[in-house]
Amino acid sequence: MAAKILDGKKIADDIKKSLKDEISALKNRGCIPGLTVVMIGANPASQIYVNMKNKAASELGINSATVNLPEDTSQSKLLGLIAALNEDRGIHGILVQLPLPPQIDEQVIITAIDPAKDVDGFHPVNRGKLVIGEETFVPCTPLGIQKLLIHSQIETSGKHVVIVGRSRIVGLPLATMLVQKNQGANSTVTVCHTGTSNLLHFTKQADILIAAMGKAEIITGDMIKDGVVVIDVGVNRIEDRSSDKGYRIVGDVEFDSVRKKASAITPVPGGVGPMTITMLIYNTVTSAKHFMRASSSTG
Ligand code: NAP
Repeated sequence: MAAKILDGKKIADDIKKSLKDEISALKNRGCIPGLTVVMIGANPASQIYVNMKNKAASELGINSATVNLPEDTSQSKLLGLIAALNEDRGIHGILVQLPLPPQIDEQVIITAIDPAKDVDGFHPVNRGKLVIGEETFVPCTPLGIQKLLIHSQIETSGKHVVIVGRSRIVGLPLATMLVQKNQGANSTVTVCHTGTSNLLHFTKQADILIAAMGKAEIITGDMIKDGVVVIDVGVNRIEDRSSDKGYRIVGDVEFDSVRKKASAITPVPGGVGPMTITMLIYNTVTSAKHFMRASSSTG
């Protein structure tokens, strides 16, 4: 069996079309969704990601700005900027690009963002709401994965989902979402990590396997059962002398061997990545709708 390729770019484009309609409707009511990305220093990987976010935002016609601050920015200066963005009625989404330099405490910064503008879904209030199943901002990558599964009509209810990776931005929130009694969820979830003593024992049981380790091509065909759905979150650069750049991007999954046994698989690139960017716009539009609703109810 050769797996169906789950085309994240195509699904993201479809979602963007419906977001465009929602953005037009908001504009007709006098509200342009606004997103501000704050970037400290000049991390090249972050810069690429921020550029992609801005491109998607401007394509869809939302106001998007990036504030670039120097590497030696103090925590108090950044807190001052966040306080001003929290007060700005034209901004519905604030995203501080991580990682931050060592003089700044990441958690202090995340907690300073107004939870109502926390489109990354990293604020403790939003994380807590996610755990208790309340509507909230969900981190963009897990949300993108869930939407990708739903749009690909992959049943999650009653399935055993094995997630390899327990990070706060991917593995943990995704596990929290998929275990809930909701559409696109209701799964039995196992979370594996470096403390898992026999990874193979778990990967072999997966109906849906989600690899989010950041380790190139660790998941191989002999680690999975026939017919599994594989979502590859990893983005890894490996040396490739045949490429002009001298490297190529691969996932955490060895695509060729896994594709032969899986029923469906996301490619890298072109799978989860485009969904993540689109979910940032989705969360910003959702935030703008909340603000509109709140301002019309207060007259
Ligand atoms: P992270 O914070 O480094 O977490 C990696 C997780 O994988 C950790 O929980 C770690 O376990 C686990 N792990 C690492 N090696 C393992 C192994 N050999 N066996 C079992 N578990 C292992 O990474 P992240 O931020 O979640 O990102 C993961 C990958 O996804 C990266 O390649 C990143 O670039 C990519 N990513 C892609 C997108 C996208 O939109 N495409 C978005 C976000 C992230 P411990 O907790 O025990 O250390």
